[in-house]
Order: sequence, then structure tokens, then C-alpha cells
Amino acid sequence: MVPAQSVFFAIRGDHHDGHAYIGELYRQGVRQFVIEQPVPGQEQFIDAEFITVPGTVAFMQAQAAAHRATFSVPVIGITGSNGKTIVKEWLAQLLTGPVSQAGTGSAGYVVARSPKSYNSQLGVPLSVRQLNSTHTLAIFEAGISRPHEMAALEAIIKPTIGIFTNIGTAHDEGFKTRKQKIAEKLRLFVGADTLVYSLDQDEVADEISMLLTAVNPGCKLVGWSRQGQEAASPAGLDKLYRVAVQGDALTISGADNKRWSLRMPFTDPASVENLTHCIVTMLTLGITDETELNRRLARLRAVSMRLELKEGINNCVLIDDSYNNDVAGLRLALDFQKQQGNRTHKTVILSDVLQSGQNETDLYQFIGQLLTEQGVSQVIGIGPVISRNRGYFAQNSLFYPDTDTFLRTYPAQAGIEFRNSVVLIKGARAFGFERIVDRLQQKVHGTVLQIDLDALTHNLNQYRERVGSQTKIMVMVKAFAYGSGSAEVARLLQFHRVDWLAVAYADEGVFLRQQGITLPIMVMNPSPEAFQTLLDHALEPEMYSLRLLHEWGSFIEQATPDSPVPCHLKIDTGMHRLGFLEAEIPTVVTYLKAHPAVQIATLFSHLAGADDAQFNAFSQQQYDTFCRAATVLEAGIGYRPVRHLLNSAGIVRFPDFKLDMVRLGIGLYGVESSQTEPSLLRPVGTLTTTISQIKIVPAGETVGYSRRGVLDHDSRIATLALGYADGYDRRLGNGVGEVWVNGVLCPTVGSVCMDMTMIDVTHAPASEGDFVEIFGPNVPVTHLSQRMGTIPYEVLTGISERVKRVFFAAG
Ligand SMILES: *Cc1c(COP(=O)(O)O)cnc(C)c1O
Repeated sequence: MVPAQSVFFAIRGDHHDGHAYIGELYRQGVRQFVIEQPVPGQEQFIDAEFITVPGTVAFMQAQAAAHRATFSVPVIGITGSNGKTIVKEWLAQLLTGPVSQAGTGSAGYVVARSPKSYNSQLGVPLSVRQLNSTHTLAIFEAGISRPHEMAALEAIIKPTIGIFTNIGTAHDEGFKTRKQKIAEKLRLFVGADTLVYSLDQDEVADEISMLLTAVNPGCKLVGWSRQGQEAASPAGLDKLYRVAVQGDALTISGADNKRWSLRMPFTDPASVENLTHCIVTMLTLGITDETELNRRLARLRAVSMRLELKEGINNCVLIDDSYNNDVAGLRLALDFQKQQGNRTHKTVILSDVLQSGQNETDLYQFIGQLLTEQGVSQVIGIGPVISRNRGYFAQNSLFYPDTDTFLRTYPAQAGIEFRNSVVLIKGARAFGFERIVDRLQQKVHGTVLQIDLDALTHNLNQYRERVGSQTKIMVMVKAFAYGSGSAEVARLLQFHRVDWLAVAYADEGVFLRQQGITLPIMVMNPSPEAFQTLLDHALEPEMYSLRLLHEWGSFIEQATPDSPVPCHLKIDTGMHRLGFLEAEIPTVVTYLKAHPAVQIATLFSHLAGADDAQFNAFSQQQYDTFCRAATVLEAGIGYRPVRHLLNSAGIVRFPDFKLDMVRLGIGLYGVESSQTEPSLLRPVGTLTTTISQIKIVPAGETVGYSRRGVLDHDSRIATLALGYADGYDRRLGNGVGEVWVNGVLCPTVGSVCMDMTMIDVTHAPASEGDFVEIFGPNVPVTHLSQRMGTIPYEVLTGISERVKRVFFAAG
């Protein structure tokens, strides 16, 4: 962000209110604000300009629609449940660049497109704003989650060519029926000239024949089918393409016996569907030469949808964004880099920016300024164009003509410090930056726990929505954030501005402070020996007994710090673990009145059976006891600490008990422990390992220690690089545990060893080196914990620290 030139649009969402950030942005130098409600103290921002509009999002949408209206290039609009982003990215790759075919012009298209998956009410206006006079074609995606959203997106995108990818179950909850969802999505095409879709999606094809032809009779319908001669040709269809697929060969035939034999770079079912949409769209655009089509398909690259955080050499963190390079994406990646706030250096390795459609000088000047603003300490520019614009980058930046030169020179080159840095690696495909990632990455093999940071955010927002913006949130990041990695999780929570964090022990809090976490942190089990440490790191202890309270009081009165740290008071209302009993409150009051240095920030208790309906009466009783005790305490001390009671399950089951704050734990990590709303959350962790060896073992032989795994059939046995020392419990041996191997659940055989586990892959496609899912999207953690005879908490926190954590986000 270049503050002085930025305009800030204050947006109110379900979870955030942009108006709250205006003071901070003003201090950073922003002077132009679009707001929809008065901002307290607005008159103090003397030289700022405020534009008040009825709705900020609607205002952005209207501006974007007006911008779009000034262009007459073809605009491809994509919607559907899955594949929107892949189809968009692939089409952009396929349509960009020189075209050898006569008739289409030699320059090919200069394509504007939505960055990443920017397809929402906000994402679409931001995407369309990218369109400028150098573009000769645009591709935008549109995604909706409730009725009546598409009309707004249609008005902005105004696609001339439409693609309906497919319909799935995502967001079904927002719609009454699937028909309603399809009908709503079709609104994107009410003004389109052409629509590309699959006839094999019966429901979609039916709605198009019935609805779309009624509202947009002029729309040319281009359908494709893999049903061979069986393919239905509904009334109103203008073009039918029959598609046959065998291995990587795709044959597509149109009317007049026109036929194309094409080779696909990807052959999994989803890719084939996405590729077919792309191919039919190219044919529709008049790119019909078979050789040319094959040439373009051959250079397609897989689209990685996510920014990956990887552990690098010398304590570096790598952000791998090595597959695409556009300015909008660069901003996103830099924002992501900023969230990884604990490293001293920020390095960006950047290639030439291809196809920006912008004047070279303006472009690199802008990028240089952007990087400086974001506090990037060193830029490594690779490519001839960025090299000749080196003047726009910081002094210590280094430039190389190509990736090979960089890789050859870098270890010996003075002035490159890949040490304690967050390194963002972002390059256009042609530069092959994956080789740089490979070189700088600390090699990870064997067992990996992948943490989906987007899912964490999603889950946080689900709970925020439940409790509303008036209720504070404390997030439990004890036990290494339930095994997920406390520093990374805490950093994300800090970014999303939760109100408090909580850990079990002082050490855990110190670690978070060392990682740059500045949020208030409660320590639930402080010991007097750790008081000085708490004070030094501004960690706030929980007081649960008179003994502890007296120790803390004497300590804090002696320490007389400049900024006294408050503490938290826990009341035992029936859990009978830690806390003051109700009867002790008057004594606590007497002590606190005599020792005003002891400040109580919050007052809380914990439900013993929040997740289970059989304890509802007891939970109610705990709530009543807590409120009584709180009233007595507050009357006695004369101020009102923040009150809190609910954990994750409690938030879902007892909305009336939310008080001033809730304490979110396992729900953030994707487990809905009350099991009343399974679709509320997205899974966060995926534990995978690899197959070290496969062997054929005849029936009658045994596998593993104590000859426990007796084979009753000739078997293929795979050995996994994971054992009980990694957290794969020994109770999961002998067929109790099942793991997911290339789409097949395979049972364990014999006992789980310390570092290895054997599984039966007789009926699964499996090779040495293949990945195996231990838990994740295909094997829920709860499934695993049930098999083990325990709860998901134990599975998550039991994954040992030697298992590498890898974090990713879609960005
Ligand atoms: C761990 C913990 C929580 C969070 O519980 P979840 O069931 O994981 O939501 C809340 N409060 C206290 C006191 C805790 O120790």
C-alpha cells in the first residue's frame, strides 16, 4: 500500500467493520476514505477526505460496472460449483501469447482475469477494475452462496461468453433446492451471446433449455457431451461437440464431421472436465487448428491454488508462489508475507512480470514502491526486464538475467542472506522458480501435518458469526495450538484480531512472545516461580486458589512494574478442577480490596459437560452459580471484569450463556465436538505419510513384532514411515486403524511400531513413495479417535513435534 495514494473503502461484514480501522490508517498516512456511517472523531482527521455513500460494497460495484461498460473486448464469465478458478487460469494460459494460426492475428490475446479466486460480491468488482486498454480479452469468475447475489455480479461482469462448469453440493445450504441454485447461477448469462456447458450435467442442461432460452433467446448454446451417439441434443442447442477420452487422448467431433485429436496434459476426471470446457471455449473463439490446439495444451501447467508456507534452510520461511506472477497476486502474497511477522528480514524473489498490459516504467516503479512500503528488505530480481529496471528497487537488491544464473551464483554471492528471513518466491511460469524453492527448502519427507490456514479462518468466522460482534473471543492455543503449531496459528489469530489467547503454561506464552505475538495472553496454570517471567513477557496469570492469589499479590506489590499485568479469576462451578468455590468469594473480595495492585481483567468458569445434552441441567446450574458468584465479586470490588464461560461446544449449544466473551478451542481446529452441527466447520489438519516399501507376503506368514499380523490371504504389505512415536497410537494396530491410499481405505496389519506401521494394500493401487492420508478430508479425525477409543483432542495433541507442520492458504 502506498498510503498517500490509497483510498480506503470501509466495509462492514459479518465479522469485521472496516470503519474501526480508520484512525490507524489515518496515522499511517491514508487520507481518502469511503464510508457508509459516521466515524467517531471524524472531525479530528482534518486533512482527510470522507465520501459517505449508502453502502460501500454497492458503491464499489457500481464503480466497477461503470468501468466495465467502457470496454468492448470479449469477456468470458465463469460460474458453477467447482473448477471456476482452474478453468479461468487454464483459459488465460491457453489464450495468452502468440498464435501461429492464420486468421486470429499473430499477437494472441492480452488477458485480464480475476486474481486467484476473487469471485465474490467484493472480489468481482476488484477483479473487473484490473481491466485496462491494453487487454484484448477478459476472464472473470463469479461465485455466489445465497439467492439474489448473481444479479449484482452480472451487472458488473456483463459476460459476452459464458461457461457453466458444473453443479455440486457446495453452498447447498443457502438455497432451497438445487434447481434454485442452478437458476440463480444462470442469471450470470442473461445478456451473454454464447454459453458453453456440459450436456451430461442433466439438471444444468434442463434449466438452460427451459429458463435461459426464455430470458435470453438470442444466446448461442454450445454443449458438449461424453455420451457418444447417445448424447441428447436438446431443442435450442446451436452446437454439439461429442467428446471421447481414452488415457490422455481426447477426441472431439463437431458438426460436418470435423474432428480434433488432442493430447491432454492432465487425465484425472476433474481436470478432463475442466480441460474440455477450455477446449470447447477455444473452438468457440475460432482457435480451431489441431496442431495449434495441441501446442497450447502441451504448455499448460497445473494450477496450484495456494500460497504454501515451507520451512526453508537457515531458519527461513518460504512462501511458494512460484506459479504465477501478476501484480494483483503480488499484493496478496505480500499481505500474506506480512502476516508471518516474526522474522527479521523480508526477501522477495521476483521474476519479470509478464503480460501486465502496463507500461514497463510505470509497472516497475509501482512494484518497487510497493515492496518498499511493505518493508521488504531485499529484492532479488530475475529476468532481463526487471534487471533493466533495477533503479526502482532498494540499493541492496540483486539482479540476474535468468534463473540458472541465479542458482549457479547464489551460494557464493556476497550480499545474499537467506537467514532468518521470510522469503517470498514469486515468478511467472517460464522462469521455473520451483527450482529455487527446491533449493531453498528444507527437505521434508515422511510424515507431514498440513494445516489449512483458510480453514482456520473459516472456522473462526463461523464462531464469530454465532456470538456476534459484541462478544469477545479468547482462543485456546495451549498444547501447541492443539497440535497445529502455536506460533503460526497465533499469528493468524493476531491478524484477525481476536481478543485474547490462552495457554496452559508460562513457557508456552514466552514462546509466543518470542514469535512476535502481542495479543493479551492468559496463562492457566502459572506457578509462583514463573511470576517474574510472566511479568517480563506481559503474560496474565489465572488465579484459582487463595494460596496463589496471596503469592501473586505479594509479588506484584513488590515488583511495582511500570505496566502492571492484570490477572484472571477462575471460579469452580462444578468441574472441580481449578478455581475458587462460590463460598470463597467473600474472602477473595476482602483480599482484593486490600490489594488494589491485583487487577482482575476477566472472571470465568468452565462447563464440565457442554457437549452433551444429558448434562444440560448441570450446565444450567453451573451458569447460575457463576452469575451469582460474579455478582457478589463485582459488588465487592466495585468494577466489572469481562465474564466468560463457554468453550467450543458451549458456543454451539448454549448461545444464551455467551456473556461478555467465549473461549474457543477445538472448534477452531475443525472439530465440532458437540456433534450437533457437523457442517459448521472445515477440517484444518491433514496428516500424511509415505510408503517406504511394498512387498508380497504369502498367506500364513506374519507381519511385525510378536508375529501379531497373521495373514489369511496372499497380501501386498506396505510399510509406512509413521509409528507411535509420531502419534499414531499403538491401539490402531491389527486392523483397528485404517488409512487412505489412493482412494482406498487400507487396514493396518500387525502392531504399530515406534517409527513404522504396516498396512494391507492388496486391494489398493499403491506404489512405493506414494502419499497416504492418516487423517484429513477422507479420514475424519473423529473417525480415528473413535477407533482408538478416545476423543479427537488426544489425537490432535498427540502428534509429536518431530512431525513437520506445513501451513498453506489460498491467498
Ligand atoms: C481447553 C479449554 C477450553 C477450550 O475447550 P474446547 O472444548 O477445546 O473448546 C476452554 N476453557 C478452558 C478453561 C480450557 O482449558
